[in-house]
Amino acid sequence: MSASDLPAILGGVPIRPEGPPAWPGDWPEVTEALNACVKDGSWGKYHGANCEALTEQLCEFHGVSESILCASGTAAVELALRGVRVGPGDEVILAAYDFKANFQNVLTIGATPVLIDIDPATWQLDVSQLEDAVSEKTKAIIVSHLHGGYVPMQPVMELADRHGISVLEDACQATGAILDGRRAGATGHVGVLSFGGSKLMTSGRGGAVMTNRPEISQRIRLFTQRGNEAYPLSEMQAAVLRPQLDRLDERNVVRWNSVRQLSEKLEQLVSEEGDPILRPLVNACSFATEDRPAFFKVGLQFDPQQTIELSRAGFSQAMRSENVALDSGFRSLHRIHSKRRFRTAGELPNANVCDEHVLILHHPVLLKGDEATQQICDSAARIFRNAAEIADATC
Ligand SMILES: *Cc1c(COP(=O)(O)O)cnc(C)c1O
Repeated sequence: MSASDLPAILGGVPIRPEGPPAWPGDWPEVTEALNACVKDGSWGKYHGANCEALTEQLCEFHGVSESILCASGTAAVELALRGVRVGPGDEVILAAYDFKANFQNVLTIGATPVLIDIDPATWQLDVSQLEDAVSEKTKAIIVSHLHGGYVPMQPVMELADRHGISVLEDACQATGAILDGRRAGATGHVGVLSFGGSKLMTSGRGGAVMTNRPEISQRIRLFTQRGNEAYPLSEMQAAVLRPQLDRLDERNVVRWNSVRQLSEKLEQLVSEEGDPILRPLVNACSFATEDRPAFFKVGLQFDPQQTIELSRAGFSQAMRSENVALDSGFRSLHRIHSKRRFRTAGELPNANVCDEHVLILHHPVLLKGDEATQQICDSAARIFRNAAEIADATC
């Protein structure tokens, strides 16, 4: 093998010379916002103009009447569940391949998660399985838009209305996306956002609940306001989020373009049999022209036909050595929790596929342009060419 073909994990020079890009990176507007907090003292105050202004900005941006700022996306999911009156003994339907805290929140409230499979065409919650999962105990459905894709909300809302159950739309990974003409998080009875440290809009921690239904927001406020605010977002956090919301649309478009380019390049990466080695979960070219998807993580199925000698863990380790932030995806909920804690409706073969095969590329590199996407593909190609040697070295 030539020196330039030697993967970094075997001692070669990393294809991306610098490490994965820092997140949140450099934001002159955020520095300005923080300076303004210092000047007016809002950095150390309970109340000020920033939370109020962010609340209004979120409502306007999403076309909803109510936004409630809170301490995290996880807290937002809990509040949203409480807001639609989920309680002990109730059931909440969610995808078996979803964010762990969503499952945990259902348990925290004393309700039972009911897990359904994901749709292999979209790798999102399979809407066609909802009907069979509904029982007389069902109180809510959690719908998460993951990996830049989305769950069609209209059929979910129709089914929910027919059964008198509530829909919680989790837009923590799809912040700012416009799908079927609506902002992600604005269609469900209640929607949630996260402003956690890895998210597309970040204040390190933080979240929001959105709704058009005053009875839901009223119930949430009754729960959080205990003479003092129990799940607060601070003035300083609100201040740094506002300029990020101003630029969210513009940045989501840049990220989407990068994902399209990346997908095209990855198509050329095939096994000897001609099978794709890294198959995107979400087809970045499948969106309508009016859609504006938001990519928080790019989900890729690693070696779906299992033709490569290298394991998923070995591959991600080798990509990390090339300075590409590619990791295994999250675990399927039914595989990491005791069976006593949940009920399943139907088999979960596609959630199992994700559990075993998904890799996720973190979003910061998507703002780095063409050269970065090329480096990602070059890194993967070089690793595949040397798969057998890497497998020997990493296990
Ligand atoms: C990040 C995330 C959350 C929760 O966000 P935190 O602010 O980290 O608590 C919820 N759902 C999904 C799908 C997420 O990706």
